[in-house]
Amino acid sequence: MRLSRYFLPVLKETPSEAQIASHRLMLRAGMIKQQAAGIYSWLPLGYKVLKNIERIVHEEQQRAGHIPILMPTLQSADLWRESGRYDDYGQEMLRITDRHGRDMLYGPTNEEMVTDIFRAHVGSYKDLPLTLYHIQWKFRDEIRPRFGVMRGREFFMKDGYTFDLTREDALHAYNRHLVSYLRTYERMGLQAIPMRADGGPIGGDYTHEFLVLAETGESEVFYDSEITDLKFGDREIDYDSVEACQAVLEEFTSRYARTDETHDEELFNEIPEERRRVARGIEVGQIFYFGTKYSEAMGATVQDSDGNKVPVEMGSHGIGVSRLVGALIEANHDDKGIIWPEGVTPFHCGIVNLKQGDDEADAACEALYKALTAAGLEPLYDDRNERAGGKFATMDLIGLPWRITVGPRGLKNGVVELTSRRTGESEELAFEAAVAKVREIYGV
Ligand code: ATP
Ligand code: MG
Repeated sequence: MRLSRYFLPVLKETPSEAQIASHRLMLRAGMIKQQAAGIYSWLPLGYKVLKNIERIVHEEQQRAGHIPILMPTLQSADLWRESGRYDDYGQEMLRITDRHGRDMLYGPTNEEMVTDIFRAHVGSYKDLPLTLYHIQWKFRDEIRPRFGVMRGREFFMKDGYTFDLTREDALHAYNRHLVSYLRTYERMGLQAIPMRADGGPIGGDYTHEFLVLAETGESEVFYDSEITDLKFGDREIDYDSVEACQAVLEEFTSRYARTDETHDEELFNEIPEERRRVARGIEVGQIFYFGTKYSEAMGATVQDSDGNKVPVEMGSHGIGVSRLVGALIEANHDDKGIIWPEGVTPFHCGIVNLKQGDDEADAACEALYKALTAAGLEPLYDDRNERAGGKFATMDLIGLPWRITVGPRGLKNGVVELTSRRTGESEELAFEAAVAKVREIYGV
């Protein structure tokens, strides 16, 4: 993309309504525009990051054997009356009446609807296990939408639903989700720690929240510092293997890590003092095994091998896709702007032409642009007639992890400059070597 033809409405002033870095930077970098409290348009740069996150979530879900579908945003109130949640959900639910006077709602989540799909089409244990998921907009009329996309009213979420014959199978589905989530967040360059969460009225141990440590997080968290040394890395996991998934769950959940809702001071104090940490975190996902709550209420049964009809065992598993954009920035920024991890960056590399209009510099930038594009990469070429300082400030603000700077002085010596946004370190390289290095970084 050539910046002169792009739509990147960066702001010079720091917007006064934004209280935290990610919200400020998303507004300043022209990623989003607020349309109403907690409701945003995604401008081109923000939309690209959102889509990159969505793609990683899809890939990792399907790697784990989960099947994508798409359910609508609007739902019929009758489904929610069956589960009893139409009355329970309260004011967070946006209720709508259609022209025929029928009660509708903008879905805050989809347990009821997916259970309805299941009961219409699945009747036998032979069709299990089954995991259906979608990535769709949700609406929750939050009392205090704030921090930009972190706590919106309309937000983009992956929610997956597991169906199994037995509790044992359902727990494997739970473990499988935990493993796939670890892998998903790491691919984005994020550490998200599974912490034991509160099961609410259903109770039980079988819910974990994934938290990204950040000062601006809304949850208070308590953990053993050893947990931050754990890495999932690039291990290959057999998602069908009960033992393999169980082993990962034990590895990542055996140390103390809890949110304030489940915190136990006595247990916490058993950790050696120098490893006890009290911090804040952003919830970027949650997994939940809840058994037969919805299947019993809504009559979603399967026939087991003896021919008995039993309610199907279920779980639901969410990832906050739009919240992740904010969480990624909270975890990756400095005074100058955003620093995207390579896994989610909107463009792979910036190209800064120090002397637009200089034949040699223009030609070198064009050639770089072509070479990177031909390698399957997406560069952002700042081809505007602007001062170098302004171009650097824009690149730093929007946070592309790599920048190639091209100017007449370097070209005289046959070099361009490759700079890392994260470390600020620069390297002078011949044209081909710079292209090769960027390709190597992205493995293309
Ligand atoms: P919270 O406790 O932050 O209100 P939740 O526990 O109600 O979230 P879940 O029902 O677990 O949310 O939804 C799954 C994921 O969706 C959450 O882990 C979070 O990342 C994201 N999410 C929930 N509410 C919002 C929101 N208002 N804005 C953006 N993302 C959200
Ligand atoms: Mg949650």
